[in-house]
Amino acid sequence: MTASDSQRARLARALDALEGLSVGDAFGERFFVKPSVVEGLIDARALPPPPWAYTDDTEMALGILEVLEARGRIEQDLLAEVFARRYRRNRHRGYGGTAHEILQKISVGISWREAASEPFDGAGSMGNGGAMRVAPLGAWFAEDDDARIVEEARASAEVTHFNSEGQAGAIAIAVAAAWAARSRHKLADPDSLFEHVLALTPPSTTWKGIRKAARWSLDATPTSAARELGSGQRVLAVDTVPFAIWCAARHLDSYEDAMWTTVSGLGDRDTTCAITGGIVAARLGAEAIPQDWHQTQSLHPASADPLVTSPQPCGAPHAARVSMHRRADRGVDPIREDPAWEERGHRLVEPTQVRQPAAENDHVGIQHVDE
Ligand SMILES: [Mg+2]
Repeated sequence: MTASDSQRARLARALDALEGLSVGDAFGERFFVKPSVVEGLIDARALPPPPWAYTDDTEMALGILEVLEARGRIEQDLLAEVFARRYRRNRHRGYGGTAHEILQKISVGISWREAASEPFDGAGSMGNGGAMRVAPLGAWFAEDDDARIVEEARASAEVTHFNSEGQAGAIAIAVAAAWAARSRHKLADPDSLFEHVLALTPPSTTWKGIRKAARWSLDATPTSAARELGSGQRVLAVDTVPFAIWCAARHLDSYEDAMWTTVSGLGDRDTTCAITGGIVAARLGAEAIPQDWHQTQSLHPASADPLVTSPQPCGAPHAARVSMHRRADRGVDPIREDPAWEERGHRLVEPTQVRQPAAENDHVGIQHVDE
């Protein structure tokens, strides 16, 4: 395989994961509706009406892919710059309070090391933000050594998540996505997914959560798993990553079932669906995503496409790639322009009004009133 073949294969794998992540993100986001109706919608598998707006999970995953295309590895200074540029372009993608603070600081020239290490009295964020965006990275490096994947995932998380729990969550999801990409066209055993993730995730509370998930029967109901493992109510790696992996393990061969199971756990549902969707699509390919789940975006033609500014543009036209680029370049603020936003239970906090979160909560910029 030539170097350019290898680059194309990396990109194709990453784009599959990215499409699964993005559709999951936008799908999950649409279920922030009144608590009295959400369970009925999920039980009926009622697909939400368009538009489905993607959130920070996708925006930051696009940033990671932009850096990988440009440099072939996570260069942290560049990643911080890319995250900050994308943030400045649209601050209303549902970033959490701590993310607002960090990205604002980086935007005014403060180093990412300083910005990411300050929150929570210097402990750094242990939120789920490192995990939510990392599945495409795992797919990109799927043919590399596991140690490389761990190192790149950690580097991608550290830019905003200085805390080792936030990094452990990102590592777990990256290695899960790599495992999934390697299992393409093969039978896949959920137990080996858990074994692989547990072998590579650093010792942490998140690791203990994943071990608990591995022991939780896949025949159990999603709601019981969410209750036991957490489903992102605290938007921490520890209460998000184990459940998302459990959902992926339960539905390694059906993207659609994986999404309905994941959203049944409620909690931080755009992020849990983004994580699970990224893993499952890394295994099955973007073509496993139902066609009508792509109906969701009212798109502008791609124009100022950030990904093709890479010094070494690569990759053949790809449906997922085109779709993602178009979504990224819609030029509208889907959240602010969606009149259902308030009804969906969100209360936006202007970036300039962000308070220091009282708890270890990476996501206070949006308050989900139904949780
Ligand atoms: Mg989000």
